[in-house]
Amino acid sequence: MTLALGCIADDYTGASDLANTLTRAGLRTVQTIGVPADDLALPEVDAVVVSLKSRSIEAGLAVSRSRAADQWLRGRGAGHVLFKICSTFDSTDAGNIGPVMDALRADGGEGAVLVTPAFPETGRTVYQGNLFVGAVPLNESPLKDHPLNPMHDSNLVRVLARQSRTQIGLVDLATVTRGADAVRARLAELAGKGIGAAIIDAVFDRDLETIGLVAAEHRLSVGASGIGLGLARALVSTGKVKSAGANGETGIAVGGPAACLAGSCSQATLQQIANAERVMPVLHLDPDRIITGGGEAQRALDWARPRLAEGPVLIASSATPDQVAALQARHGRDAAGHAIEQTMADIAESLVKSGVRRLIVAGGETSGAVVDRLKIPGFLVGVEIAAGVPVLHAVGAQADMLLALKSGNFGGAEFFSDALRLMR
Ligand code: ADP
Repeated sequence: MTLALGCIADDYTGASDLANTLTRAGLRTVQTIGVPADDLALPEVDAVVVSLKSRSIEAGLAVSRSRAADQWLRGRGAGHVLFKICSTFDSTDAGNIGPVMDALRADGGEGAVLVTPAFPETGRTVYQGNLFVGAVPLNESPLKDHPLNPMHDSNLVRVLARQSRTQIGLVDLATVTRGADAVRARLAELAGKGIGAAIIDAVFDRDLETIGLVAAEHRLSVGASGIGLGLARALVSTGKVKSAGANGETGIAVGGPAACLAGSCSQATLQQIANAERVMPVLHLDPDRIITGGGEAQRALDWARPRLAEGPVLIASSATPDQVAALQARHGRDAAGHAIEQTMADIAESLVKSGVRRLIVAGGETSGAVVDRLKIPGFLVGVEIAAGVPVLHAVGAQADMLLALKSGNFGGAEFFSDALRLMR
């Protein structure tokens, strides 16, 4: 199998967002958790997104992990690799965007790398090299106070130059508006001057398409899901990828019992649980007993096992803000959160051992704990249940199973039923 596109994402949620964007644009896409093993058996796909957690780690480590991911992707024929960063360019003068870009550029022998975090549909635009978040420049946005990567300069040419060993140029909007040939000429001019990377302006979706066309002719680019969208559209429009249609994989059915786990205490999830009570049995866990080791996981399994043959079940630790605050006051926030996440992971592991093959998890951290425990190396991204929440088909896992992993606030009031309808 030859990949049309390889992606290295510097965090998990960014990777999911990109994988979902590529799928909606018609690319069959697998998202992996970390750099996969060499023997991971991939289905026939167009793109792989390797999810790393390298945004805020030491730059040397980010470089070595990204290079390992790059090698894995190139080894599967990826002619182009996108280094996926945050659309708000989260980084510091120590990195990690510049050092990773420099290393991948050196490995791939790239001339001038196109760089843009623009993603107009989410309000990220770049003009004259300056990143805007909605209506304000980056350095006036809430990112100026980010705890790990405070962004005090909206001029990305300067920001990237401070992190990179190469000089940084600019491809401005006027050039992008003139089309792909004008961008190619400008890039050649910059490369001729020894400039190794260029911030490229983008304000509208059509700018991303122009950028994608040119970037796809190169070996490396750097940006957010916006340039991913541009690359995907370019690969489809030039016939390098035969579009799978905007729905991703819809036909897959694994059968087997279904279960839902909710660890999110968000307003949306609480409403979704209340609505699910009308259509499936729901067990509310006792969070105090979880933390004090009262055998809640076993109680949940004893409750679930006889019911699974009849239809889906839902097990929830979720509670109202008052109850959460009281529990945290008694046990400490981190200790409470961690204990509940691990119990959810225990329950998920035992449910899968009991034959569950369709698993829906509500809560970002909760999902992370469950996926880690199930040791799932990757997912083929399928049809969207709700905006940003696709059906996932496990790849290289011990059991053939479908999952849906939902951030607390995502999805409509009938989310659990909506998911089950699409996960057959
Ligand atoms: P979200 O996506 O809504 O942020 P997460 O799963 O990321 O959901 O975070 C929810 C956190 O709350 C987790 O750490 C989870 O273990 C914890 N939690 C779940 N139930 C309770 C509860 N009843 N009381 C306190 N904390 C809880």
